[in-house]
Amino acid sequence: MLGIGSIAKKVFGSANDRKVKSARPLVAQINALEPQFQALSDDDLKAKTNEFRDRALKGESLDALLPEAFANCREAARRALGLWAFDTQLLGGIFLHQGNIAEMKTGEGKTLVATFPAYLNALTGKGVHIVTVNDYLARRDAEWMSKVYGALGMTTGVVVPEQGEADKKAAYACDVTYATNNELGFDYLRDNMKSELDQMYQRYHNFAIVDEVDSILIDEARTPLIISGPAQDRSEMYAAINKVIPDILPEHYTLDEKARQATFTEEGNDFLEERLTALGLLPDGQTLYDPESATLVHHVSQALRAHVLFTREKDYIVRDDQVVLIDEFTGRMMNGRRLSDGLHQAIEAKEGVGIKPENVTLASVTFQNYFRLYDKLGGMTGTAATEADEFREIYNLGVVEVPTNRPVARADEHDQVYRTAKEKFDGVVAEIKQAHAKGQPILVGTTSIEKSEFLAGLLRAEGITFNVLNARQHEQEAQIVADAGKLNAVTIATNMAGRGTDIQLGGNVEMRVLQALATDPQADPEALRARIEAEVADEKEKVKAAGGLFVLATERHESRRIDNQLRGRSGRQGDPGRSTFFLSLEDDLMRIFGSERLEKVLSGLGMKEGEAIVHPWVNKSLERAQAKVEARNFDIRKQLLKFDDVMNEQRKVVFHQRREIMESADLADVVKDMRDQVIDDLVTIHMPPKSYADQWDAEGLQADVVAHLGLDLPVVGWAAEEGVDDDVMRERLEEAADKYMGEKADAFGAETMRNVEKQILLKTIDEKWREHLLTLEHLRSVVGMRGYAQRDPLNEYKTEGFQLFEKLLDSLRTDVTKKLSQIRPMSKEEQERMIAQFRQQQAAAAAAMVAPAIAAEGARAGFDENDPATWGNLGRNDLCPCGSGKKFKHCHGRLA
Ligand code: ADP
Ligand code: MG
Repeated sequence: MLGIGSIAKKVFGSANDRKVKSARPLVAQINALEPQFQALSDDDLKAKTNEFRDRALKGESLDALLPEAFANCREAARRALGLWAFDTQLLGGIFLHQGNIAEMKTGEGKTLVATFPAYLNALTGKGVHIVTVNDYLARRDAEWMSKVYGALGMTTGVVVPEQGEADKKAAYACDVTYATNNELGFDYLRDNMKSELDQMYQRYHNFAIVDEVDSILIDEARTPLIISGPAQDRSEMYAAINKVIPDILPEHYTLDEKARQATFTEEGNDFLEERLTALGLLPDGQTLYDPESATLVHHVSQALRAHVLFTREKDYIVRDDQVVLIDEFTGRMMNGRRLSDGLHQAIEAKEGVGIKPENVTLASVTFQNYFRLYDKLGGMTGTAATEADEFREIYNLGVVEVPTNRPVARADEHDQVYRTAKEKFDGVVAEIKQAHAKGQPILVGTTSIEKSEFLAGLLRAEGITFNVLNARQHEQEAQIVADAGKLNAVTIATNMAGRGTDIQLGGNVEMRVLQALATDPQADPEALRARIEAEVADEKEKVKAAGGLFVLATERHESRRIDNQLRGRSGRQGDPGRSTFFLSLEDDLMRIFGSERLEKVLSGLGMKEGEAIVHPWVNKSLERAQAKVEARNFDIRKQLLKFDDVMNEQRKVVFHQRREIMESADLADVVKDMRDQVIDDLVTIHMPPKSYADQWDAEGLQADVVAHLGLDLPVVGWAAEEGVDDDVMRERLEEAADKYMGEKADAFGAETMRNVEKQILLKTIDEKWREHLLTLEHLRSVVGMRGYAQRDPLNEYKTEGFQLFEKLLDSLRTDVTKKLSQIRPMSKEEQERMIAQFRQQQAAAAAAMVAPAIAAEGARAGFDENDPATWGNLGRNDLCPCGSGKKFKHCHGRLA
């Protein structure tokens, strides 16, 4: 029976249908422009771009320019790539421009789709970023699509790690820039650690198009990007704690496998207290419940988690004396990613590999908050609809399902459910043998490397040749995936390995041409291509006859989206194909989340050994279980984000301030405001409003004025004068401080003083901010524990985080004022002593503060700003003594 909802859908069409329908007239307009643009010369196409730029500059909206710009881009792609964009691709491009996620299936040509909105939005000159899931794809897509942008007279850049600074800046200066989410996020953080504007990479956050958007904004959104520096080495502590864990008994802790949490029971605490005291880790007489034990308790819990919740080959692998994490969704290695809060060290201790020092956070941002920086955001993927709520709620992104260019002909079969994993895998092998006998290409999906390898063993025993695609070989991922559609190919892959590479039936012409050229560079590329095209076309027919690509999944994933992603690798552009899932009651999803009811019903249906149950009801209830897990994971991400939002607001304030400081030519006013505020606060403390003279603490004020302003003033005498109240005191202090700082500025010279002020401001902000980040991290774990006291951790965190931030601003003012009052031009002896001290300490922070003072003094004492030989020993981050205002390392100290 149809529900009201579905009846309405039948009559009025779904909301999605309406969105698609409303964009059709635009597509018709673009189509109508075809002859006009086809008639243009190659140069005319480029000239059109300049015309559009002018019109945009004069205020014409991008929406109004869309039809012509898209028509121009379509024509350019035809000439540059030989691809005539389908109407569905134009639709996708329109939805991206409108700030949506375009859900387009694998093989629909999303790489080309992105060029349309990218071109249109780059017309304003603020640049467009196209975001890919890995560097390989960033390079591939940039190279491939640069031909289109080039034909349109636009520049293309690609940002990859380990690129030189100049190359990276140039890439960001292009009209369209391809980069991974990681690199973009890191560059944003790096930019905000710099002290000069012209060193910053990113220009604007104008428009980002995120490819494989679900992977980036959902799967990867749980781990923040962190730039960190090493803290003190505590490897002995980790090793010592690690020794205790194997003796812990099951009754010592409770396990929440879903939440990945382990908590000690009272019994466990008693046991630990005894052991830790004996080992000297817990001081005599101290209990684990004392606040001083918080750090120890924290690390012992982490060690326990490392042992019972993290499994080698599933959650991580050990390679080159390192613990490398594996993405639970994609099975990819996450090189360089480390678990935080000492958990990674705990796993390193467990595996007996080198324990790297814990890192302290210097800067961090989540992908959610990075991508929310953009004025406009668009995304593309084959699978977004199941997560539409999350995209809407977190990113304000709508999802539009774009119809496929040709109808999907893939047959999605019902799940086959076995009793045990063993029976399931016997079934899988039998199914593979059957399909393989026909030559049908098979893509087998697994959820972990461990299972991939288990299955590989089974197939080997059957004498079947296959490729294994997993996190260990991701360099070759693309190549193997590209071959997965060939006749007889059997490919085992962890769930989404090789995302972004199209599986074409019969093989991938481009890849094979490149391969052939690599082995025989002498060959004639044209002839080679013709031969390979013919071979692939021939093979494609045979593969089609064998039924197309067969996707066989060996487990359902926690999220329906990941299952759909795997399915969607088959049946591109109307190709035949089939997909099926083999499951067992022993699968994780069934074990942890499957309801008892499901098991009852299944046994009611009469499960027999070695036989699968196939029933639409099973699929339904599994999907319900998945939906529940999805909702729970969304809640976790939402909660994380709420915590991160606290820091995000503060980060925005700090980064904004930094930028303003870098941009301003003169900071004297800012610095004076800070100083006045400090004076105001000091007076308020020692001479409170509405108090009598005998209640004042004039001695205290006098001492604080020395400490904060570097001024020895007769404050006690002033306070005793007739008619002096707190306001008069403020005036006198401000006047004295202004005069003192004014003299200093004269002694340094205006130019130097400006630089000194800027550097001190930036340095102090950075120091304070880093300290603050660490405090926030601690606060976060502390409020988590307070949850037991019936208080809302988030609210506590918000309130206290805000208080901490106010304190930060407070101490920023005080510190800057203090530091500036302390700097002064130096005598020759002082200078030499200071230089010697530099050599010893190599403390970059101190150098930047004091060096200008040396330069200024030098001007009077045998120092010649035109003769580097007289400059003495300088830090690389010091201002160059030649007076250019640049850092030494960027000026006379530049290497080579
Ligand atoms: P997706 O990212 O949607 O999975 P890709 O962008 O990787 O798809 O493109 C898949 C294949 O489709 C590529 O080989 C590409 O050359 C081809 N393709 C894209 N657009 C067209 C088109 N308009 N006509 C013919 N082939 C196309
Ligand atoms: Mg793609």
